[in-house]
Order: sequence, then structure tokens, then C-alpha cells
Amino acid sequence: MKQKLLFANITEESNWSDWRWQLRNRIMSSDELDQYANLSVYEKASIQKAIDVFPMAITPYYASLINKDDSTCPIRMQCIPNPKELIKGSGDMDDPLHEDGDSPCPGLTHRYPDRVLLLVTNECSMYCRHCTRKRKVGDNEKVSKDSDIIKAIEYIKAHPDIRDVLLSGGDPFVLSTNRLEQIIRRVREIPHVQVIRIGTRTPVVMPQRITDHLVKMLKKYHPIWINTHFNHPREFTEESARALAKLADAGIPLGNQTVLLKGINDCAFIIKKLAHLLVSNRVRPYYLYQCDLSRGIEHFRTPVSKGVEIMEALIGHTSGFAVPTFVVDAPGGGGKIPVLPNYQLSSTSTKTVLRNYEGVICIYEEPANYNSSCSSTCNVCKGSSALHDPIGLQKLINPNAKMVSLIPEGNRRKKRLKIYKDILHDN
Ligand SMILES: *Cc1c(COP(=O)(O)O)cnc(C)c1O
Ligand code: SF4
Repeated sequence: MKQKLLFANITEESNWSDWRWQLRNRIMSSDELDQYANLSVYEKASIQKAIDVFPMAITPYYASLINKDDSTCPIRMQCIPNPKELIKGSGDMDDPLHEDGDSPCPGLTHRYPDRVLLLVTNECSMYCRHCTRKRKVGDNEKVSKDSDIIKAIEYIKAHPDIRDVLLSGGDPFVLSTNRLEQIIRRVREIPHVQVIRIGTRTPVVMPQRITDHLVKMLKKYHPIWINTHFNHPREFTEESARALAKLADAGIPLGNQTVLLKGINDCAFIIKKLAHLLVSNRVRPYYLYQCDLSRGIEHFRTPVSKGVEIMEALIGHTSGFAVPTFVVDAPGGGGKIPVLPNYQLSSTSTKTVLRNYEGVICIYEEPANYNSSCSSTCNVCKGSSALHDPIGLQKLINPNAKMVSLIPEGNRRKKRLKIYKDILHDN
């Protein structure tokens, strides 16, 4: 293969396909970049400045996909630092997703009622320039300590509502198979944990990591679900396809999370092609993320409307299972909020007016005599926390709801009223 000729120091054919070799030979300085991309002296100097703040690491495999002469190459833009990373945008935040704030113990985020995010390492095989956890990734002083992981697992044990544990990082697949197995085994031993999920970019940036040995280990702990992170059609190669096939053949349902990135994939045609490559490789497009407000990535951000435009071009135009959900991860820990084009145009008591992807406007006639099947004799929801301790709009709409409005904390009208009443009371 052509790309291998780049490596004068490869002595054995097997090295390239050895993931530990890929890790050991990561490109970490601007001088080493020469053989992969044509850089001017000025560029090199400015890249070095960015590296001083946010470290660089690129696997030889991923670097070999760079188009040397194209300064807008989507592979290059995802892995080679850019001095724009040093610009502080007005919306930038250190922890936009409030992952540390919603953390009951180091490395664990418990935001949603029935699932948690467990960061098992801060190390990645490649440091993506658009990474939302940029401030942590590659920071050796913030390695996930054994004792932290044990504490996090104790927390999960003590919370029977948690039925889905998402292992992420960093990239869990940079851990040795043995180390990873220790963690997965402990989580699997918890009776109320139904699903273990792993988020990994290795099928994209170091597909050599998906070995038979790893897959054999994972299979023992089913149901295991994996989400990977392809952002551009050019990331599909023979090697990445082989890695995905191994995982799919092991019965692991595969999903993909794409980040919407300016100049890389902010185009409906690119996202559609990506979606088709994913489903051809048995990967279901899961989320399309609006770029977060993390520091150092403002130059990658698009307006939210770009995501809506892309969804407009996907929904109805291609297979439902090739369409991801477009989400904005709300700053401050609000979690993922789906954003869609509008399909419901209007409604009356008897009809709902909808439009389809072609612009056809139609009505759906509501049933004439619909009464909810909810009754006092039904037991399906009895004892569910959704009824006795509802969340969000459920407070208003669940069958037992007594509340008629939800009012944000610190509402000015309420405050004004309270001050006025207090004055009356004091007199
Ligand atoms: C994304 C995320 C999850 C998983 O959310 P799903 O919508 O179930 O994929 C869980 N916890 C945190 C903190 C997350 O950011
Ligand atoms: S693999 Fe994920 S965590 Fe690691 S640098 Fe890339 S986006 Fe960040």
C-alpha cells in the first residue's frame, strides 16, 4: 500500500496493523508533520503555538489519509492544530456541558434519570481538534484513577434506577483489553445495569485496535452497544470497514455520532453520503451534534440553522434509519435537545395539518370519539416514578398532575408579587 512507503522505519509488515505500534508512533510535534502535509515555515510556527496549549497526537494511520497539498482537507482539519484554537470566542466556556458540575464523583456524570456517563481514561489515540473535552484529553495529571472508577461503580450499584452505563473518555479502547475487561466485568456484575455502551473513535482513527481478541472479550458481556465517531466520507477505508465488520459480526449494535463542523461536513450532500457509507457498514447514524461551546473550537462552529437545513435534506429523502437526530447539547447541563424542521403546520379540534418533505400539505383527521385508555383499573404505570415524581412537562401532563404551570426560578413577576405581599404583611 502506498501509505506504508511513508514509513522508512517500518521493518515488519505487521507493525502497521499493530495498534500499539500506531500508538507508539503517534505524531506529536510539528516537525514530524512534514511527511504528511506541506506546511510553510510560518504555518509550522503557528501550529507549534497551538500545540503548546492543546496537545497534538495523530496516529500514522489517520495521518496517512491526509491529502498533502490540500489545506482544506477534512482529515487534516480534524487532526492538525490551527492557531485559531487560541482565539477565545465570546460564547466559549470551560465546561459547557456542565459535566463536572453534574458529577457525583470524579469521572461520573449523572444527568439523565436512568443512565450515566463514566469517563474511564483521558487518553485518546488521536486528539481531535474539535474535541469538546479538549481541556482534559491528553492531560496526564487528570488520568482516571483506579480508586475513582471503583467509587463510580459503587455509586452505580447504589442507584438502582441506572440501567444504562456509557463508558467514554478519552477513548476507552486505548486501554489494554485486560484493563477494559476489569471495568466492564465490574459494571456487568451490577444486576440493574441492562446495557453497557462504549463510545470510541478508534474505528476511525486507529481501526487496528479492533482485534479479534478485543471483540471476543466484549462478546462475553452482552448487551454491549458501541457508538463511534465518523465525520466525513473520506474516513472510510478498507481498514475501518474491516473494524466495523468485526464489531457488527460480534453482534454489537453500532451507532455513529457526527459533529457538525464548519468547512468539514457542513453540507447536506456530505452528511448524506456519510450516512449511506455508515449504513452500508451496518452502522446506524445516531446523533448529529451541533458543535459545543468549548474553548478553542469556535472556528469549527456553524449556526444551528445549518443543522436544520441538513435535516430538511435528509428526512424523507433517504431511509429513515440513515437519518441521525440533530441535537444541541444544552450549555449548563441541560442535555441533548433535538432540533427539527417544522412539519406540523396547524391543527384544529378535528384535524392536524402537516407537510411532508416534498412540500405536500395534507391533513390528518383526528378520531371522532377518542378517550384515553387510561383508567383507574389499569396497573401499568402504578408505582412508576414518572407518576409520583414526574420530570419536566410530565409535571403538567401526567394523569395525576395537579400543577397548571411551570415557572422558572427567579421569575420577576413572582418576585415582585412576593415583595409586595411581604410589605403588606409587615404593615
Ligand atoms: C449523551 C449523554 C448520555 C447518553 O444520552 P443518550 O441520549 O441516551 O444517548 C448520558 N449522559 C450524558 C452526561 C451524556 O452527555
Ligand atoms: S476521540 Fe473523542 S474524546 Fe478523544 S479527542 Fe477525539 S473527540 Fe475528543
